[in-house]
Amino acid sequence: MNVLTPLDPARHPFLTGKPKRLLIDGKWVEAVSGKTFDTLNPSTGALLASVAEGDAEDINRAVAAARHAFNGPWRKAKPFERQNLLLRLADLVEQNFEELAALDTLDMGAPISRTRGNRLRVLGMLRFYAGQATAIHGETIENSLPGDYVSFTLKEPVGVVGAIIPWNAPLASTVWKLGPALATGCTVVLKPAEEAPLTALRVAELCQEAGVPPGVVNVVTGYGETAGAALAAHPDVDKVAFTGSHLTGQKIVQASAGNLKRVSLELGGKSPDVVFADADLDAAVPGAGMAVFANSGQICSAGTRLFVEQKIYEEFTARVAVYGKTLRVGNSSDPDTQVGPLVSPEQLDRVTGYLAIGRQEGARPLSGGERLTQGAMAQGFFVPPTVFVDVRDEMRIAQEEIFGPVISAIPFTDVDEVIERANQTNFGLGSGVWTRDVGKAHQLARSLRAGSVWVNCYQAMDPAVPFGGYKMSGYGREGGKQHVEEYLNVKAVWIKTG
Ligand code: NAD
Repeated sequence: MNVLTPLDPARHPFLTGKPKRLLIDGKWVEAVSGKTFDTLNPSTGALLASVAEGDAEDINRAVAAARHAFNGPWRKAKPFERQNLLLRLADLVEQNFEELAALDTLDMGAPISRTRGNRLRVLGMLRFYAGQATAIHGETIENSLPGDYVSFTLKEPVGVVGAIIPWNAPLASTVWKLGPALATGCTVVLKPAEEAPLTALRVAELCQEAGVPPGVVNVVTGYGETAGAALAAHPDVDKVAFTGSHLTGQKIVQASAGNLKRVSLELGGKSPDVVFADADLDAAVPGAGMAVFANSGQICSAGTRLFVEQKIYEEFTARVAVYGKTLRVGNSSDPDTQVGPLVSPEQLDRVTGYLAIGRQEGARPLSGGERLTQGAMAQGFFVPPTVFVDVRDEMRIAQEEIFGPVISAIPFTDVDEVIERANQTNFGLGSGVWTRDVGKAHQLARSLRAGSVWVNCYQAMDPAVPFGGYKMSGYGREGGKQHVEEYLNVKAVWIKTG
């Protein structure tokens, strides 16, 4: 097959195929309301597909199916069976990877070089969770009761999981929710983001092909305020695994109160990236640049608050601005594109709104700073890599998540000062440090209040390494053994043997 074929929406096998319905109890069904919504190609603004618009009634059906499946034979599936299922799914994702990467690119606008580049990570996730399926174990615990008692713990799947994901990395987000759920024996109702719902539907097809039993994985596409809210509030959902903005995260927590369901939250950030004058600047310039420009800044842990030591501030920010200008901005389907469009007109308004706010606050764009409208870009939602200088800590562009390719560069003079200022944020997801001084590297690694600290690199990720937030970036971890624990209950068993 010509590897480039799927990048043409008119020839992509999933886009030209059947209507985009909901997966409930192993069947592809229309929404009860019969309504659909449109998803667009952000590079061209053109309609990509119409998708079933699920709402509360569909969520009810899907949760009932997930509960039924949880109480059925799936509850007795051995760890080895769940492992094999995940390995089969991984193989199918691998075989269909080009198609899935193209779907992510067409639906959310990430450059094809990036979505193809996610291959090892996505497959690694599925195979990591396959391994975790056979690594679940309780403990035998010595107790001090008089008489003869044996006490031990069992780990049990938490039950029906409502998984709500954002649009910025549809394939990876889908896999990051399904992997631990299937590994532990939970069942899932997945609600993808309305901006980019297609990849989750295609992965659901592959789940069926892999042999996931009916009702174990259900997918309800629809809007957050209707389908998402109904899932978060549903009394028969045992856990909500949410990835998205902190504002929605707060609503999820409120909605969860009805049945006190478990909640894990992977939220946004305003991550500091600290560059010391002693750093390898040739590495730090592209490193700090791509910490924000990758995926057009639509990455939760993007290093958007760039703290630069005063004595190199002017030179370094100028170099990052020049670096940003060298990146090729354009249609995501072009293999040479390094920076694609923003996902939607709404996201374009949000980011250009912050560009205006930055200027009003007195910050100065060294590069970028305006929407791109030349030629074919006028139809898409393009903002170029932007570097703001003269930024002060209290400015909104230094405190609020923009979710666009926008760096807010702030000078600092010494280590203790930058630690304090870097921590002055409501968020705590990622953080970066660029230095050749191992002492400084350790000091910052311990002092920064964030779930990840990257030293002389940024956004290094591995399925075995936990990822998650401090403060308003959420709680719970994805990746690593910790992630699997989030999908398990611990039961203590006592047996009187005397
Ligand atoms: P969002 O919060 O607007 O939407 C996320 C999901 O929640 C979507 O599926 C949406 O339909 C749903 N939703 C919206 N309102 C809801 C409600 N009232 N009840 C239930 N569900 C609702 O976020 P977004 O714009 O899709 O994604 C961008 C945000 O996600 C950014 O803040 C980004 O930092 C964050 N994010 C975090 C991580 C992480 O791992 N920490 C990863 C990716 C994205």
